[in-house]
Amino acid sequence: MTNTVTAPASAATGVQASAAWSKFPFLSFCWISLTLVAAAEALLLYLVYPRLETISLNLLYTVFAAAGAFFAVLGGGLTLITVTSLTGADLLYPHGKRSVTVKLLFPIAVFLAKLVRFDRAKLMASFVKVNNSLTIAQSKRIKGNRILVLLPHCLQVDVCNRKITNDINNCVRCEKCPVGSFVQIGEKHDLKIEVVNGGTLARKRVAMWRPQGIIAVACERDLTLGIQDVHPVPVYGVINDRHHGPCVNTCVDMDNVDTAIRFFKKM
Ligand code: SF4
Repeated sequence: MTNTVTAPASAATGVQASAAWSKFPFLSFCWISLTLVAAAEALLLYLVYPRLETISLNLLYTVFAAAGAFFAVLGGGLTLITVTSLTGADLLYPHGKRSVTVKLLFPIAVFLAKLVRFDRAKLMASFVKVNNSLTIAQSKRIKGNRILVLLPHCLQVDVCNRKITNDINNCVRCEKCPVGSFVQIGEKHDLKIEVVNGGTLARKRVAMWRPQGIIAVACERDLTLGIQDVHPVPVYGVINDRHHGPCVNTCVDMDNVDTAIRFFKKM
């Protein structure tokens, strides 16, 4: 386990800049996916064009307009995500609404990555980096007084029998795992800390606390699903370290957690 270290005020920006390269896998696969969607749409329109023309010109124009609008929403959304992620300027729109761009393009990107045998974990880690940069870009719109920290149950060392998913304060802070540090951090920064053993409990906790921002610690897969699940609540994802294999005695880099806390608390 890494100890908490005070990060400089510009930590969030520094993390964003140093991790710029790691955003490219997700963004690249999304742009390739968009190109494929456009090609499929163009082919479909080419095939139905003669039939639509014979049925009704109005119907033809409507179908072409709908196809154009669909592509404009996806392409516009991906352009805004890319520029915001790479520059840090908050160009995300619409505010507080569900994003159809990531929801539609991400599954295609995952499929393409699988086809070319690109490491799925790397793609998901890249998605988390892009998501974090989008969260940082929205800084001015995020109020930092109701922040929820979601921790995976596997942070608790396997020999400990304290029931921390009911209440993290059942931890006696024996320092055998990172959970005790989180209890202290929660008290220090007035954060709600919840330990969850899966997506269902995580969703329940989010619905219960209605946070303005979430710091989520988890593996790439759980973070990717969770971030999309709770959208548009801004999430700062921290990928855990799994030196003992998945889901057992995991650790987390507390520097990253500290950066996330400082970002949400505007410190
Ligand atoms: S720090 Fe808390 S959760 Fe971790 S082993 Fe000790 S009592 Fe259990």
